[in-house]
Amino acid sequence: MFKNRKIILGIAFLLLSLSVNAQQISVNSLRYWTAPDHTRLVFDVTDSVVHQVFLLDNPVRLVIDFNNSHLSKPLTQPPKNHPLFVRVRSAVRNKQDLRVVVDLTTAVRPKSFSLNPSKNKSHRLVVDLFPKPSALTTLSAKKGVQPLTTTKTVKQQLREIVIAIDAGHGGEDPGARGPRGTQEKKVVFDIAKKLAALINKKSGMKAVMVRKGDYYIKLRKRMEIARAAKADLFVSIHADAFKNAKVKGASVFTVSNRGASSEAARWLADHENSADLVGGVKLADKEDMLATVLMDLSQTATKEASRNIAGKILKNFKRIGHLHKQNVQKAGFMVLKSPDIPSILVETAFISNPDEERKLRSRKHQTKMANAIYQGLVSYFEQYAPSNTYFALNVKKQHVISRGETLSGIAVHYGVTMKAIKTANALASTAIQVGQVLRIPKG
Ligand SMILES: [Zn+2]
Repeated sequence: MFKNRKIILGIAFLLLSLSVNAQQISVNSLRYWTAPDHTRLVFDVTDSVVHQVFLLDNPVRLVIDFNNSHLSKPLTQPPKNHPLFVRVRSAVRNKQDLRVVVDLTTAVRPKSFSLNPSKNKSHRLVVDLFPKPSALTTLSAKKGVQPLTTTKTVKQQLREIVIAIDAGHGGEDPGARGPRGTQEKKVVFDIAKKLAALINKKSGMKAVMVRKGDYYIKLRKRMEIARAAKADLFVSIHADAFKNAKVKGASVFTVSNRGASSEAARWLADHENSADLVGGVKLADKEDMLATVLMDLSQTATKEASRNIAGKILKNFKRIGHLHKQNVQKAGFMVLKSPDIPSILVETAFISNPDEERKLRSRKHQTKMANAIYQGLVSYFEQYAPSNTYFALNVKKQHVISRGETLSGIAVHYGVTMKAIKTANALASTAIQVGQVLRIPKG
């Protein structure tokens, strides 16, 4: 009895170890991404893998232990003269486990998580490396803190108008892909850079690139970057894709009150929002909460501004190419949900259309697109520059009423009271008409 049980146990153990070996996970490749605040390692693996990540000293190195795994081919070495990585090596442990060691130039704080397969990506193990707090202090101490100069004689500090430019996707998330293999993340970054250059040339305006290179930023973080920069406008740049290669044209979106307003828009919103599933951590649980809270807070003025700018840009797009939708579209894009920053999203063209893919790659066409966006937002701020900006000094204080505007909305934009506008224009009521010209008094 006892003896039999031992044999059965033995056989069970043998079968178990055989099956474990049969399901060995293969580590197929390693990619490196560098963002301003962290560095990312991405391993492509055949299944979600039990692992441990830790740091060893002298020399400082990062160790990643993959349980029951093997390398399918040698790992790509880090780029030469990388600020953090020196070399990567690997070894087999306990006959069935894999150890990957990355030699580093300095100690870091590692954080790892698994990503499930998404689009054309397999299972992945992501290791994010953040600077150690001590290293941060040393860095800022080295840089030195500039004393802030405050002049009490200046009554009101004038400021520049800030445009946050968000090139969609990045890093692990390439976005949509054209038939020739063009990646959305690449062409939208090119257009974003051209737009930033135009804005930075304009006096009284400044561009802030939300992502400054080829790395992924979570959608919520993109909004936070814009807010930290005190942006007056958030412009997210994308390229569309569809299964039918004939579909073409540009479209411009603002956020909808209750998510997507049409089936197509809903599909698109899913597509763009799913970026966080590809490039980072899922935010589904936060999203519902955020959507309700933000939409409740959302101000009429912000929406009015977003619609106005979107309309101007769409008009300019019409002059240089085909429009996919003739009107400003509404969708529940995560990045458009800032309650206090007017936000728009442009789908510059369909990358899935061979002709438009070619255009998206052409520098000349990229400049045209950037210029259409630029002209649209400049003409908006010529009408509505906030009163504490340099830009406001140089623009005529006259306002032509366009469709959908309200006296209260206009008052908010110029930072004056409705009463002041009514007095300056001898208005008996708040009723205004499209095309009517208003004098805007000083705030
Ligand atoms: Zn996109």
